[in-house]
Amino acid sequence: MPAVAVTAWTRDELAHRRDEIDQISLEFESLQPGDIIARAAALAEGRAVVTCSFEDAVLAHAATVAVPGIEVAMIDTQYLFAETHWFVGEVRSAVGLNLRIVSPTGVEPDNLWRTDTEACCRVRKVEPLNELLRGAVLWVTGVRRVDGPTRADAPILSFDSGRNLLKLNPLARFTDDDMATYETIHELPRNPLVDRGYPSIGCWPCTRPVAPGEDKRAGRWSGQAKTECGLHT
Ligand code: SF4
Repeated sequence: MPAVAVTAWTRDELAHRRDEIDQISLEFESLQPGDIIARAAALAEGRAVVTCSFEDAVLAHAATVAVPGIEVAMIDTQYLFAETHWFVGEVRSAVGLNLRIVSPTGVEPDNLWRTDTEACCRVRKVEPLNELLRGAVLWVTGVRRVDGPTRADAPILSFDSGRNLLKLNPLARFTDDDMATYETIHELPRNPLVDRGYPSIGCWPCTRPVAPGEDKRAGRWSGQAKTECGLHT
């Protein structure tokens, strides 16, 4: 198995380690998600944050098993489906998460999503995420290459120059079958919306179920040019 550096890195040096980051990312291609998370967390010396949308429980489970007590965060936009809130409780019971729920500051539910989804996502998702990640060295996400064309080339490990941290996508290689197999092996609960035609789940005003054969993320901001909320762009 290839050797992976284990000396902890600081935020100040990340920009100068891009070649090493690319090399480690290639080495991670042959590892399972839990091993990837454990090795990457060693690089960050505990300054790691996992963000989950709770479409499924795979990332939360893999991270918590690999690094017990690792912080798992959910951004509560104030527009999440009731089913997602219920599901978070199920995952907490099943996995025993160190869960942190992050909310946008200074805003109440409003109608901005009707007129300006970019601004709404910025206030309710991107800004809370950036605040959450302030000071972190490693950000662990659930991005997968099969999510859609905008994510097809997602590396497992990269340098996020905008936030000046390491971004880890430990599930990047996982197919839908891989996810289902992982859920079965570990007896994980499922978000009920998935079985009702929502393969990608965001906020209720901006998510519709998809038809058979449609892209997994076709139900997100349907009818708009927008395809990403801004967290991963
Ligand atoms: S997905 Fe829709 S409701 Fe949620 S933050 Fe973005 S624009 Fe607002």
